[in-house]
Parts: sequence; C-alpha cells; structure tokens
Amino acid sequence: MAKSIFQRIIDRELPAKIAYEDDLCLAIHDINPQAPVHMLIFPRKPLARIADAGKDDQALLGHLLLTAARVAQAVGLDESGFRLVINSGRDAGESVPHLHVHLLGQRRLGWPPG
Ligand code: 5GP
Repeated sequence: MAKSIFQRIIDRELPAKIAYEDDLCLAIHDINPQAPVHMLIFPRKPLARIADAGKDDQALLGHLLLTAARVAQAVGLDESGFRLVINSGRDAGESVPHLHVHLLGQRRLGWPPG
C-alpha cells in the first residue's frame, strides 16, 4: 500500500511545521487551517483510522489524546478551550488514511458540526 501523506511527513519525505514529536507521535500544523489553531496529532504507527484500532492500541490512543491536550495547553488554549476531532471513514469526511486527531481552537466553534 502507498505511504500516506502523514507517513511521508514522519519519514521526512515531505515538509511540515512540526510542533511536537516523541517516540510515538507527532503534532503538526494543518496545511489548510479551519481555525487560528489547527494541528494534527498522529501516531508513527501507520494505523489507517480509529475504526481499525484494536485492544493493542489502547495505550497509544491514550497517548494521542493526552498529547493533544498538552499541545493545546502549550499554545495557550487551556482557558479558552479547544476541540479534538477524529474523522473515521467516508461520512465523517476522512481524507487522509492515517489516524489523526484534529486540535482546533482560538475561535468559537459551532455545534453541531456540519
Ligand atoms: P481528515 O479530513 O482526514 O480528517 O483530515 C486531514 C487533514 O490533513 C486536513 O485537515 C488537511 O488539511 C490536512 N492535510 C492534508 N495534506 C496535508 C499536508 O501535506 N500537510 C499538512 N500539514 N496537512 C495536510
């Protein structure tokens, strides 16, 4: 299977504005931001989407969420708030088949989402 865009960013084949990385995941700035803060947190492990994650991924999924919250705090969103979004599959609008958490903030976000 072809490498996803995010796998190519992990492998440094494509440039990205990397805000954070550790041995399990990266946080980058979205190329097409939908809010003043729009970052993507994704694992190094090439999991296509949350629907494909299994019991073995439990700790990794926890790490992604905690990292997203930490990155949100690092850019000053802890008081104003922020939203984490995971799109899984066609109806959710998933466009990159490499699991990622969107971190959105620094503006009022509507609900329900479109
Ligand atoms: P999805 O629609 O799969 O939930 O989200 C994919 C996200 O990846 C979109 O918000 C899109 O703007 C972002 N994206 C797609 N290609 C690139 C890229 O090459 N670099 C970065 N930084 N973000 C990308």
